[in-house]
Amino acid sequence: MLPSTFDYVAPTSLDEAVQALAAGAGDAKIMAGGQSLLPMMKLRLASPGMIIDLNGIAGLDTLEESDGMLRIGALVRHADLENSDLVRDRYPIIHDAAQHVADPLIRNRGTFCGSLAHGDPAGDWATVATTLGAELHAVGPNGAVVHSAHDFQTSMFETQLGMDQILVEARIPAPKAGQGSAYLKIERKVGDYAAAAVGVMIVLDGTTVTEASIGLTNVGPLTINATDAAASLVGKSIDDAAALEEAGRLAAEISEPSSDLRGPEEYKRDLVRVLTKRALRTAGARAQGKEA
Ligand SMILES: Cc1cc2nc3c(=O)[nH]c(=O)nc-3n(C[C@H](O)[C@H](O)[C@H](O)COP(=O)(O)OP(=O)(O)OC[C@H]3O[C@@H](n4cnc5c(N)ncnc54)[C@H](O)[C@@H]3O)c2cc1C
Repeated sequence: MLPSTFDYVAPTSLDEAVQALAAGAGDAKIMAGGQSLLPMMKLRLASPGMIIDLNGIAGLDTLEESDGMLRIGALVRHADLENSDLVRDRYPIIHDAAQHVADPLIRNRGTFCGSLAHGDPAGDWATVATTLGAELHAVGPNGAVVHSAHDFQTSMFETQLGMDQILVEARIPAPKAGQGSAYLKIERKVGDYAAAAVGVMIVLDGTTVTEASIGLTNVGPLTINATDAAASLVGKSIDDAAALEEAGRLAAEISEPSSDLRGPEEYKRDLVRVLTKRALRTAGARAQGKEA
């Protein structure tokens, strides 16, 4: 199907984009990679009267570490994250996820920030952002606003981002000493959304977990921050098999998957349990420098 008619503007500054979005009064949509927006328009699930294309704005492709944060600008593509040495060496959870977001064609255009703004609980980046405690820096007609990744999604495909706000950059705290992270995803075939996926971040003192965070993808109406599962690990050894089993059990308990073409509810819940344990083992090994 073809999209319904729309106007198209390609601002060259953020100010211009903010003004265009405000002038659109709820009928305008920002476009970054277009990899979710355009399919939705073709299916007539979205029919914006105006598209505001961010791709002509310089400076939105920043991918760098500064002031103790990894900065991911609004035009940083999935492929940029997949191919970044900085990301591979310092943020393994991002590197893991980047290799499994959609397919290579979509990864060349789609963006990290666009995925967050889309608010899809099946999106891999929302889980990564939640697990790593990202700050989401937006701008609107009333100035800059910072949202927390933890409560950014408000319902399916809805976020805290105002209709007049543009997500400019995600900022992720740089890893601490003893930090390890991992993202594990089960997909039916290459390019598919997760049947279930789990992101974990831990900080170790020796083998003792001092901080933990666990996020779950596509097993509920929102991206899930599995706080009880994460808290259960603090003070335990990462080598304690029973502690990992308990974290997996608690993560599975908080998940709310539905039965669909990707599998029955019980299967997905068990995937969460198993993936949580495996991701914790991988993150633990990475935290101890035992695995790249
Ligand atoms: C076949 C297929 C398979 C896919 N598989 C996966 C997968 O396995 N995992 C996964 O995570 N994703 C998957 N995706 C989604 C893909 O990753 C998209 O690239 C991503 O969801 C949106 O990023 P984008 O830059 O393309 O956003 P766009 O399509 O440009 O925009 C998406 C939405 O976000 C808004 N938006 C975008 N950027 C901003 C911004 N900076 N500020 C404010 N609003 C903004 C737009 O207005 C729109 O509402 C898949 C998509 C397809 C078509």
